[in-house]
Amino acid sequence: MRELAAAGIGAPAIAEQLERTEASIRKQASAQRISLRTAGERRGMILGELPHGRLPDELREAVFLGSSDPVAASERSRRRAELCPACGIRDVSTRAGFCDTCYLRRLAAAHREEIATEAGRRELDAARALKYRARRATR
Ligand SMILES: [Zn+2]
Repeated sequence: MRELAAAGIGAPAIAEQLERTEASIRKQASAQRISLRTAGERRGMILGELPHGRLPDELREAVFLGSSDPVAASERSRRRAELCPACGIRDVSTRAGFCDTCYLRRLAAAHREEIATEAGRRELDAARALKYRARRATR
């Protein structure tokens, strides 16, 4: 799940890959502090909210109003059209539920994000080292 989450494919695709319900994926991700944000997504997601563009507008509205189960709605919309949920242009070709192009782009974005996180970690280490040295110098 950690690997799939890092690829930024989103909770519904992870649930499908691991043959679990989306609810169990979200629960476990929350317990393990794993982010389920899709690649490039920055804002915090409301629990149970599906990434924009995954569902047709009328279905998203039905889910929002509580008259449709999001997982079932996602299933129905996927069966209706096997188009990539990210671009809506190409056919789904990966097990993750995206076209090759979108899947690879998401993977690339996840790697870029990892590099950025690592840079942040190095910056923090450097700042801590500075603080430590400053504290020692005043002793
Ligand atoms: Zn696509």
